[in-house]
Amino acid sequence: PGVAEKMLKILERPFKLAGQLVDVSASFGIAYFPDHGDDSVTLLQKADVAMYAAKRNHSGFEIYSGGLVQGSRADLAFKSELLQAMACDELVLYFQPKIDLRTGRATSVEALVRWQHPQRGFLPPDMFIPMAEQIGLINQLTFWVLKKALLQCAELNKTGSDFTVAVNLSARSLHDIRLPGEIARMLADAQIKPSMLILEITESAVMSNAEEALEVLQILDKMGVTLSIDDFGTGYSSLAYLSKLPVDEIKIDKSFVLGMVADQQAAVIVRSTIDLGHNLGKEVVAEGVETLEMLDLLSEWGCDTAQGYYMSKPLPADKLMQWLRESQWKVTG
Ligand code: C2E
Ligand code: CA
Ligand code: CA
Repeated sequence: PGVAEKMLKILERPFKLAGQLVDVSASFGIAYFPDHGDDSVTLLQKADVAMYAAKRNHSGFEIYSGGLVQGSRADLAFKSELLQAMACDELVLYFQPKIDLRTGRATSVEALVRWQHPQRGFLPPDMFIPMAEQIGLINQLTFWVLKKALLQCAELNKTGSDFTVAVNLSARSLHDIRLPGEIARMLADAQIKPSMLILEITESAVMSNAEEALEVLQILDKMGVTLSIDDFGTGYSSLAYLSKLPVDEIKIDKSFVLGMVADQQAAVIVRSTIDLGHNLGKEVVAEGVETLEMLDLLSEWGCDTAQGYYMSKPLPADKLMQWLRESQWKVTG
């Protein structure tokens, strides 16, 4: 704890990293040998549990305690509620179309999860994804989403079109070496070509454990799955590192896109990110497109794909099908 306190103190001040001023905070999880485990895997696992408790409590650091494994009563209740929600389809997938700016047609959808909670009402993902990560249910949730998303993808392609479906991966799944195998099995079950599945990974998720993440990404890339970097521009990764990642697509964060009409600097960032992506041989997607003006600027700047409220908010499956038949960006006609 003494060491953790010292390090927290040091990290309080912004510091210079490669010429850039960065302001970060830290949370420490502490596990003791041999009280909490006698091998590195167990100790790291328990330190990880304690670290998430520290994040949750905003306490800076936490020492692992047996009680944390079982979780607090509230955690336990949440855990069984979420398991229940997956079992009886209280979770719902919404889909937001993405349009190809060259053809003006919808070509892909992003799957976004929501929770129709019997008591608390309609919950957005930000209200339960972080919790699911903390209590170790995120993989189950990811697989639930993948399964539903692939079913929807099969449905969309019944008519012979080539729709891709994007699923968000949490940082934690990216460090699970079993993930690629599970995904391969699910693709085979759903009889969907790997390239039809886009996995969106945030820049910070990759950076949180770059080496391990790279290994998982390389396997997924070899399988032929399409990989996309989400919220691009918000992390601290270096361009040198990014250019080595086996990703096919970058998705410019909506904060830049939303700002680009009023803010010259945001516009410069969006424009140069489009060029950067293309120069690295990647597809470029812009999210958060809320107006026609933004859409026009993006196509003028050569952006490949756009997603945002201007075209459509995320929709439940039946509404999506209707949108695909009736909107100006419909697949045919
Ligand atoms: P994200 O991946 O960056 O998803 C885009 C979010 O931006 C969505 O919010 C979407 O509704 C919103 N959005 C789309 N177009 C616009 C626009 O034009 N303007 C504005 N202001 N917002 C727009 P949502 O659905 O609430 O999702 C929030 C985040 O939750 C997602 O951010 C993603 O990180 C996470 N998430 C959602 N579903 C899943 C999932 O199945 N698994 C995991 N791990 N994370 C998920
Ligand atoms: Ca996303
Ligand atoms: Ca995003």
